[in-house]
Amino acid sequence: MPLEIIQAGTLGSRTSLSLSSGNEILLLEERGIKRRRNTMTTNEVYFSDLRSSMKRNLLTKLGELLDSAGLENIVSSRDLVALKLHFGEKGNTAFIRPVFIRHIVDQLHSLGAFPFLTDANTLYAGTRGNSVSHLKTAIENGFAFSVVNAPVIIADGLRGAAYASVPINQEHVEIAYIGREIVEADALISLAHFKGHELSGFGGTIKNVGMGCAARKGKLQQHSDLSPKVKAKKCVGCGECVAHCSHEAISLSDEKKAIINPEKCVGCGECILICPNGAIDIQWSKDIAIFQEKMAEYTFAVLKNKREKSLFINFITQVSPACDCYGHNDAPIVPDIGIVASTDPVAIDQASVDLVNRHDPAQGSCISGRVKTGEDKFRALYPKIDWSIQLDHAEKIGLGTRKYELISLEKKK
Ligand code: SF4
Ligand code: SF4
Repeated sequence: MPLEIIQAGTLGSRTSLSLSSGNEILLLEERGIKRRRNTMTTNEVYFSDLRSSMKRNLLTKLGELLDSAGLENIVSSRDLVALKLHFGEKGNTAFIRPVFIRHIVDQLHSLGAFPFLTDANTLYAGTRGNSVSHLKTAIENGFAFSVVNAPVIIADGLRGAAYASVPINQEHVEIAYIGREIVEADALISLAHFKGHELSGFGGTIKNVGMGCAARKGKLQQHSDLSPKVKAKKCVGCGECVAHCSHEAISLSDEKKAIINPEKCVGCGECILICPNGAIDIQWSKDIAIFQEKMAEYTFAVLKNKREKSLFINFITQVSPACDCYGHNDAPIVPDIGIVASTDPVAIDQASVDLVNRHDPAQGSCISGRVKTGEDKFRALYPKIDWSIQLDHAEKIGLGTRKYELISLEKKK
């Protein structure tokens, strides 16, 4: 079964298979697919559609996709492999189905690796704001050990304070704060559910890695340059935040309202979680461009010690209009498209956004009647958000390239 490049670049047409010199191709007789043998990252994005048969079901095709993208060269025997995914907020049903995760886990076990599932706690106080409720939510959404055959280890500790400081000296971020267990892992496999996102236009690999692997302090750094703010109307002066802040940055005013001293605040974000009345909130950055650029820089930080030991997979299925952080998901904006895998975190997101935009909008979805086939679905969802900023900046700082080769696993017809 030959590999077929069905697209080159973002607007390219059908072309023949071409690879840069030095990339050795090995024919895998038993599976009939070709695979690169070295570990160099490339702009190749491997694509599996969702067609399947008795002989070749979707799990088999997922395995082929991982082989094609070079999983065997990225993961070594005895590696501790972090599978970074989003377990879905309670009530959300659009996240990646556990049966796919189980298949990837088993494939990693066959290579002698030790995979674990991971995510970092959220900045806001939802059902994944601390490790206890996060684990409970993950299990309730189907990610129990008995199902996925691997443990879930929350990357940034009980309350999101367990981070590693990663110096990167980029334009916006000098030091990034990443969930410690992810930094300590030998290899990273990002498993992103590709969907719309209210701040970045779409959420794919860069969002899953850059924002998703950040500890609470790192998430706050990306969302805001400022300390959290107290909503005085909601504050009842209980003093819990005062007692909890280990930097003595919070005090109570004469009117029994919490006050945050920005000189002392280090932006850990813990008081947001601790307040029982939801009176402390993020000062959301109004500058979406800077937010997206910081997210790309955080992706750089996560990959700093494992650039040759990382693989990215986007599930372009149930493409919901908004993030899986909500306790609901609206109807998909396009029909299910497939799964893509790459060693280039920029190329895979560019390919994914192009695949979505090439499709018809789904009938009955929130964008139905507002956008045509080939038009930008994410701009239709969020007209003020330019999603290309994250890709441009990621390319600029050397994470990868927006020019890609989309290689289908299907036989050339
Ligand atoms: S924990 Fe919340 S309600 Fe209590 S003092 Fe702090 S801000 Fe006010
Ligand atoms: S963000 Fe952290 S350091 Fe700042 S006030 Fe809240 S708990 Fe204290």
